[in-house]
Amino acid sequence: MSVLDETKFIMKKYGIKANKSLGQNFLINEEVLKKIVDSAKICKDDLVIEIGPGLGSLTKYILDKAGKIICVELDKKMISILEDRFFKYDNLNIINEDVLKVDFNKIILDEKRKGQIKNVKIVANLPYYITTPIIMKLLEEKLDIESITIMIQKEVADRLIAIPGDKNAGAITYTVYYYCESKKIMEVPSTSFIPEPEVTSEVINLKVRKQKIVKIKDEKLFFNIIKSGFLQRRKTLLNSLTNNHIFEDKASGEKILNELGFDLNIRAENLSIKDFEKIYNKIKP
Ligand code: SAM
Repeated sequence: MSVLDETKFIMKKYGIKANKSLGQNFLINEEVLKKIVDSAKICKDDLVIEIGPGLGSLTKYILDKAGKIICVELDKKMISILEDRFFKYDNLNIINEDVLKVDFNKIILDEKRKGQIKNVKIVANLPYYITTPIIMKLLEEKLDIESITIMIQKEVADRLIAIPGDKNAGAITYTVYYYCESKKIMEVPSTSFIPEPEVTSEVINLKVRKQKIVKIKDEKLFFNIIKSGFLQRRKTLLNSLTNNHIFEDKASGEKILNELGFDLNIRAENLSIKDFEKIYNKIKP
């Protein structure tokens, strides 16, 4: 049976109508499903955490490759479908919870203690309404994971994986770049889902850096400087950082930028992550 027929069959059998407010767009393109799983490079000593398994289309492909899979799904209706569909598998755990409330550090620690799992990978076709909070959670909680392979809205994907200093870059670009090496895998048209989302999608792979490219002790301050720089995109960096109280006042801001050899008219989007590191070093207590 094709993925499309299988999806239609399951939806009919369980009387499922996709819930828009939960971002339910089910993937029905076999090529894309295979490509996601291949690009995640899953092997038998991996634990895969899948966020939002829905009806289980992606889960089915992951199950064949991973040592263990833990799914986190908010919609109770999906839970009983997944339990029915995969009752034969003893390497699948399903958690009925809001992904933003899950303690992944504890889950990973518990699984690693058991000794069968070497690496942890996150794989997901994410619900688009909470893409950014999910990614920020996965990165900021400093999980012991190797990679994140996700399908998200193309526009957001392009911002996340831009190189700092590119025209597509925003504050979040620097956060992703700080934690990960990123790669575009493929664009996915809306026809690959039912129901069709209004946007084009993109699969990206984020490989968590073992060594950071800048040395930062106070990450909160570092990211606050970057965020403040981008809050008023059209303003100069000097004005943004002064208005947002990163610089004590304009004169001390000018002094710092002059000492670093930066043009006083420079904007946040012109700075590399190392440039922001230089500003951080001048500001940190
Ligand atoms: N993985 C399936 C697929 O590819 O066909 C479904 C992907 S669908 C884009 C997103 C899934 O995330 C839905 O099943 C939805 O119920 C689930 N979801 C939405 N919000 C969630 C949350 N806060 N926590 C966990 N799962 C959530």
